[in-house]
Amino acid sequence: MKHLIEKLEREQSLTKEEWVCLIEGRTEETDTFLFERAREIRHQHYGKDVYIRGLIEFTNFCRNNCYYCGIRRSNQNLHRYRLTEEEILDCCRNGYRLGFRTFVLQGGEDGWFTEEKMVDLLQKIKGEFPDCAITLSVGERKKEEYEAYFKAGADRFLLRHETANEEHYSFLHPKELSLQERKDCLWNLRKIGYQVGSGIMVGSPGQTAGHLAEDLLFLKELNPHMVGIGPFIPHKDTPFAKETAGTLELTLFLLGAVRLMLPKVLLPATTALSTIHPDGRKMGILAGANVVMPNLSPKENRKFYSLYDNKRCMGDEAAEGLALLQAEMEEIGYHVVSARGDSLVE
Ligand code: SAM
Repeated sequence: MKHLIEKLEREQSLTKEEWVCLIEGRTEETDTFLFERAREIRHQHYGKDVYIRGLIEFTNFCRNNCYYCGIRRSNQNLHRYRLTEEEILDCCRNGYRLGFRTFVLQGGEDGWFTEEKMVDLLQKIKGEFPDCAITLSVGERKKEEYEAYFKAGADRFLLRHETANEEHYSFLHPKELSLQERKDCLWNLRKIGYQVGSGIMVGSPGQTAGHLAEDLLFLKELNPHMVGIGPFIPHKDTPFAKETAGTLELTLFLLGAVRLMLPKVLLPATTALSTIHPDGRKMGILAGANVVMPNLSPKENRKFYSLYDNKRCMGDEAAEGLALLQAEMEEIGYHVVSARGDSLVE
């Protein structure tokens, strides 16, 4: 396995067969080697800096019905909310005071936020915080809409492809959603000039090593600026309630592998990772990640943005707990920085 990790570092790519072999043949020893190499590459490009993003979960209404997601349309047991423009701006003001220079607006696909409302919101945020980056994570839209958001001040866009295998995609989503549409959206975003993030859930129901290999090949082709990789965690009110969660080990392995494959990528240690293990975030950073996304949403709304069970959103996962996060990062020799933290990927 070691020779495959060395090849990955040297050539920044592997064939599908090699990926499967590496994923299936992992051992603790090869993981340790992979993480050492991943840290080395990360230090070359980003030093010991950890970038922070203030996550604003601004609506949990969603027109989609993804089988894995707790805010899916059919979940009747969820209190739905949307933040007002003023509440969102207050989150940004609070975040700015705390040192955040990137705001991530994430939400379900909520038609209430029309193109016009989104453009107005983006212009207001950009007007008040011109030195900050705005990241959108609002799902699939028409190219013209993405263009309008970009013009209004959005800099980055997160849209995980979830799985690059057609059959697996239909296993995770109802028939009105298609992998081709998702991919088209990602290519459109890239063309428009966004810094684009894609990614997957690790251990999603039905996922095989072959699927993961296809995910890695797709990410290589897309060459995104950011890659979001976190474990799948079941939610009690979804069709996948009884499925098992993705593992810490496989998630860390994939973070390390992506760091070697896309050396300059921005790679968050996700909330889902710290939900399945109390030290998940630190372990993610030590596997090659360089971003964390503390929660900046109003405290009373956080519990309603329940993508999966027991999602962490307080303490070191909260924007107001930044001091805890800083101390945690210092413990392992890294430093939280107050900067936009743009991607070095062209
Ligand atoms: N609606 C937008 C979209 O689909 O990109 C943004 C919000 S969506 C809830 C954000 C991400 O949450 C998804 O890309 C998915 O990977 C993740 N997610 C949803 N349900 C999850 C679960 N049960 N476990 C882990 N991650 C989950």
